[in-house]
Amino acid sequence: MQSASVLITAIATVLMAASGVARAAEYTGPLLDAHLHYNTEAFNGQTGPHPLADVLARMQRSGVKGIVANSRPNDGTKALAESPLARAAGVTVVPFIRLYRNRADYDNWFRDETIYDMVLAEHARGTAAGPFKGIGEFHLYDSANANGAVAKKLMAFAEDEGLAVLAHVDDVAIDLLMANTPSKGQKTRLIWAHTGISGASVQRVDALLARYPLLMGELSYRPGLTCDGGKLCPEWRTLLLKYPGRFLIGSDTWVNQRWMYYEELMKGYRTWLGDLPPDVAHKIAWDNGAGLFGLPLTVK
Ligand SMILES: [Zn+2]
Repeated sequence: MQSASVLITAIATVLMAASGVARAAEYTGPLLDAHLHYNTEAFNGQTGPHPLADVLARMQRSGVKGIVANSRPNDGTKALAESPLARAAGVTVVPFIRLYRNRADYDNWFRDETIYDMVLAEHARGTAAGPFKGIGEFHLYDSANANGAVAKKLMAFAEDEGLAVLAHVDDVAIDLLMANTPSKGQKTRLIWAHTGISGASVQRVDALLARYPLLMGELSYRPGLTCDGGKLCPEWRTLLLKYPGRFLIGSDTWVNQRWMYYEELMKGYRTWLGDLPPDVAHKIAWDNGAGLFGLPLTVK
């Protein structure tokens, strides 16, 4: 009897050790969601499927303590930034100016002077809770449009005003956008949404991070990032370890379905963040975004 129980204990110990090797503990610290939309479909003037109390409760349940918020139109962002519910939920809102008033603007913003005027007016007005901290997300489906007249002006405006830029573009457009700034990308705070959604190679991402010192990679929808069991793929793990200060996580709640699965999305991040050394995980989860926008590095 005695030896049987010793044997069972020994087997259990071996199994626990084996499972510990297979799956590291997930990251349990604070998260900063650096790519969040609160679009009109989500709330439609407080009565939509995801009113403020709903989205903030999802963030709170997910341990999200900070968000980079933008929305089509900008009303959703302002509602989040100004809401006492956000403070009550322990969520710091970093508001960005969206370039889109409606769906048609996705394909024209880079040449539409009325959008440039709208961005300047929003920037001058700010939110009731304080100034906007960036512009975007914007999209370029054809990288050549990075040289559109309004795209050029907005990149220069952002750099001159110290605004961050959230851009959903390919790697070619990163170079073009950077070339359109006064510093040629050396002082441009560009957050690369998805870090190349069409799958720019790890080597290419590495080269761009090396060329532009303030370029940051946001990792939602990034192809090839995770492998079996939601763990980091080896070449991405190596890249994150090479540039621990240059990556961010985000939900990209571009449709309501992303709100429905918000907590699962954040749990997915916690899984692969757990594959990294704790200090690196904390940087990608929180410190990098907090550093960009002046949030405290320690949060409850
Ligand atoms: Zn997005």
